[in-house]
Amino acid sequence: MMKRIAVGLLVVVALALAAAWLFQKPVGEAIFRRAAQEVPGNDILAGLEDGLHLGLCGTGSPMANPHRAGPCNVVIAGGEVFVVDMGENGNRNLALMGISAADVDAVLLTHFHSDHIDGLGPMMLYHWVRGASTAPLPVYGPQGVEEVVAGFDAAYARDKTYRTAHHGEVVAPPSGGGAAARPFALAGGSAVVLQGGGLMVRAFAVDHDPVAPAVGYRFDYKGRAVCISGDTAKSANLIAACKGADVIVHDALQPRMVETLEAAFAAHGATNTAKIFADIRDYHASPEQAAESAQAAGARMLVLSHLVPPLPSAYLYPAFLGDAPGRFGGPIVVGEDGMLFSLPPRSDRIERRRLL
Ligand SMILES: [Zn+2]
Ligand SMILES: [Zn+2]
Repeated sequence: MMKRIAVGLLVVVALALAAAWLFQKPVGEAIFRRAAQEVPGNDILAGLEDGLHLGLCGTGSPMANPHRAGPCNVVIAGGEVFVVDMGENGNRNLALMGISAADVDAVLLTHFHSDHIDGLGPMMLYHWVRGASTAPLPVYGPQGVEEVVAGFDAAYARDKTYRTAHHGEVVAPPSGGGAAARPFALAGGSAVVLQGGGLMVRAFAVDHDPVAPAVGYRFDYKGRAVCISGDTAKSANLIAACKGADVIVHDALQPRMVETLEAAFAAHGATNTAKIFADIRDYHASPEQAAESAQAAGARMLVLSHLVPPLPSAYLYPAFLGDAPGRFGGPIVVGEDGMLFSLPPRSDRIERRRLL
């Protein structure tokens, strides 16, 4: 009896596989038609409750990893959307997460290392065309942001004329496109960047020598706070600026793993790359140092991002974290692209979900 059922099941599976193979083209077309109906409605913003929301649109670094875009964070509060750093592929993640570039109110840059700005071109373009925007995208940053924005504008100037010529002035208004630099000056190591509608955004200086200026950002909204470190070694100014934050997003480089990479590349004769692996260890925090900073700041949760090296599997997380869990009393999250953290007003809850 059992044998007959097993044979019957095998025949059914074999027939289903044969049908799937034979009818791949019409079945594929039907699947695509159905999926295409859902793409335009992929909008996470409409369904978000009031609160302070933090999304990770890129947790990687310049080291290639198919699952981690370059540094990219999105903060949503009071109906406004801010992107902090715009690394390569961050735009694609934002779209997949259901956050349209058309809804981005401003980009905030922490510093001008190439991996933090190399997604700015596509962000300017999508912000313009997807929203038929009539004004350039505001890009905030410490002094130097004018130069960066002017460079991107120059690089995209020809593309801009093609878009308007091809799609027309309604879709691609000539007054929009490109970006508008919004530089701010730090006074005493900090600056108020934006204020209004219950939201306060401050920049604070961090330690990424020889890269200067380099800042992190703190967002406060309805009794909740998120701090984003940017790139920094262990920083006393960050600890002071992020006091009592609910979430600190901190860069993290595991020196032991990077030393292993340095030795491997040196043994392979790649001495220049080996030197870079030696150099970068002094201007990023280790997971242990990030944990100490989060503890000293009295943060509720630590999220590690801009991971060096980019870990291909969660199995490696304990090796990456090292002694960090013993140095911070709260939860430590190894950031992954697509994570969303929601902080309801005037509570201590941190809700987590995945958008990818
Ligand atoms: Zn950097
Ligand atoms: Zn970086």
